[in-house]
Amino acid sequence: MNILFFDIDGTLIDSGGAGRLAMESALLAEFGITVSDRHVPYAGRTDAAIIGDLLRAHELDVTPENIKRFLVAYLGHLPVCLTQRQGQALPGVRLLLEALQGRSDVLLGLLTGNVEAGATNKLSHFGLNHFFQCGGFADNLVERNDVARAARQRAEQYLGREIDETITLWVIGDTPHDVTCGRAIGARVLAVATGSHSVDQLKTAEPDHVVSDLTDTDQLLALWVK
Ligand SMILES: [Mg+2]
Repeated sequence: MNILFFDIDGTLIDSGGAGRLAMESALLAEFGITVSDRHVPYAGRTDAAIIGDLLRAHELDVTPENIKRFLVAYLGHLPVCLTQRQGQALPGVRLLLEALQGRSDVLLGLLTGNVEAGATNKLSHFGLNHFFQCGGFADNLVERNDVARAARQRAEQYLGREIDETITLWVIGDTPHDVTCGRAIGARVLAVATGSHSVDQLKTAEPDHVVSDLTDTDQLLALWVK
């Protein structure tokens, strides 16, 4: 059996910048601050890590209370931002998930830096949420490796058994952070260059496979199903 943990942003969807817009809208609405520091990196990072950097960059205290306020405002803005921006499910994603769903030898999971409510909102917007049976989300977690451990644990709970050597874990993601967190849980990693990193950049992180996108359904199915 294979458990496939998919990253969301840059892997399954391109939100058209809706996530970043919702973060910036939250900063303005909740803290009265217009983003002045555009150097805060988003790709492959958890919501809490991004929010912590945004608060610090604008000389706000990184307290649990401020992170909570920020998150609530972010989740409030996200649906409107998703509608405003012209995002899309990334090429090949829907066909691949349709080919994998319902198989007893594949479990479809998520492994994302999004908090669960944000992940659900983004995937539902693009009609993809129903494909996933379990997931690791970044609620109350800052480090992506901890999210990976949470995803592994959720998969064990879903299956009602421990993950042993008969089960192969895979992480599918678009950044070197996805490779690193995959290694943290003993997973193989398929890197996909539909996000912020090119094939060559991803190769330096040494994933097991690198593809330019997820359109070659047959090639990908050959990795995961007999
Ligand atoms: Mg990503």
